[in-house]
Amino acid sequence: MSSEYDQIEVPDEGSKVTYEDGELVVPDDPIIPIIHGDGIGTDVGPAAQSVLNAAAEATGREINWMRVYAGETARERYDENLPDDTVDALREFRVSIKGPLTTPVGAGFRSLNVALRKKLDLYANVRPTYHLDGVPSPVKDPSEMDMVNFRENTEDVYAGIEFDAGTDEVAQVREFVEEEMGFDATIHDGPVGIGIKPITEFGTKRLVRQAIEYALENDRDSVTLVHKGNIMKFTEGAFRDWGYELAAEEFPERTVTEDELWDEHDGEAPPGVVVVKDRIADNMLQQILTRTDQYDVLAMPNLNGDYLSDAAGAQIGGLGIAPGANIGDGRVLAEPVHGSAPKYAGQDKVNPSAMILSGRIMLERLGWDDAADLVRDAVEAQISAKRVTYDIERQVEGGEKLATSEFAAEIVERIEERA
Ligand code: NAP
Repeated sequence: MSSEYDQIEVPDEGSKVTYEDGELVVPDDPIIPIIHGDGIGTDVGPAAQSVLNAAAEATGREINWMRVYAGETARERYDENLPDDTVDALREFRVSIKGPLTTPVGAGFRSLNVALRKKLDLYANVRPTYHLDGVPSPVKDPSEMDMVNFRENTEDVYAGIEFDAGTDEVAQVREFVEEEMGFDATIHDGPVGIGIKPITEFGTKRLVRQAIEYALENDRDSVTLVHKGNIMKFTEGAFRDWGYELAAEEFPERTVTEDELWDEHDGEAPPGVVVVKDRIADNMLQQILTRTDQYDVLAMPNLNGDYLSDAAGAQIGGLGIAPGANIGDGRVLAEPVHGSAPKYAGQDKVNPSAMILSGRIMLERLGWDDAADLVRDAVEAQISAKRVTYDIERQVEGGEKLATSEFAAEIVERIEERA
């Protein structure tokens, strides 16, 4: 391997995942960077590695792990939060996985997660939300939930264009808005904080493109654009309009709108065709509860995606289970939805399922669907057997409480038995 890094070791064995003609090209022995992460990352990171190793081996492959560092472990080793070597390795080796990173509260600390997504241009946060048999849920029939949420990761009110009350900057923006743009009676008198919400055609279209491609490749019925365009016409409304425009421009034969579905196809989409529809965000939050099975893939601006992914995740068992990945063109960084839960750090206690199932997304993106299915089935069988970590054990009757490492070891055994 020719790559040179000052601070991290590249494994002697293994090959690089590459990206050619818009596709990842994956060897059977890829080098995969992993950040265990802060807090409970030291528990769930190794647990996930053991399960992913078992699934790879059971399907005739081998993962060559490359430990890279960010957050507390990077500060201890290199006295910096996010070493260039780490970012370069994630960029070069393309497909990787990370545990949670702590963002200290207070001014001056930028989220390392946000920094990583920006530096690697991982513009879609993707969260598959499906129910595993045996996982306790607050809804009557959690099995109806089987959605994949695509949340735009780089713009909207998260772009960070904000001005603090009392500063010269906010005074300038206020003056421009009131005097130049004519919104003279809109902002109340007195101190004001102002944020700017950019939603671009470029950012919208690449996100919606990724969502439609996913739906087509995975035989999903629909992609729903979730927006608040009735109120924010030129930002969220534009997201909806650009979403439909992209579908019509780039997938004219493979997508239909809801109107076309009824006018031209009697409500039944032809095989291989995805219905593109839209819903207003507040309505969507109730639709996921009341008409769960009518939704498949959702494409959302950043803030809507934040709210909706968590609400959907709660329906299928919450944080210990919820997997995710940040995906750009030719790059994947899988990560659980949960944070570093510092009070449980190093106790071999928490549920590693979210990290393991994030690894499952990584395996799917490598094109190893057989290995990914083994992981899902084994986690589901383990939870159905009620041999679970504390978070699930406290919610199911007759459950047996296992440590993180015991839970993972039993999943490995199940994979080996099934292989
Ligand atoms: P959190 O770390 O997700 O933990 C909140 C609670 O969720 C825990 O106390 C625990 O609930 C439950 N939980 C989380 N992970 C679990 C697991 N694997 N198994 C079982 N239960 C689990 O959220 P937080 O306390 O708000 O955030 C802590 C730090 O993580 C912050 O610095 C935050 O910025 C960071 N964070 C990082 C990421 C990321 O890296 N992507 C994401 C979110 C937050 P119980 O107490 O009920 O057992």
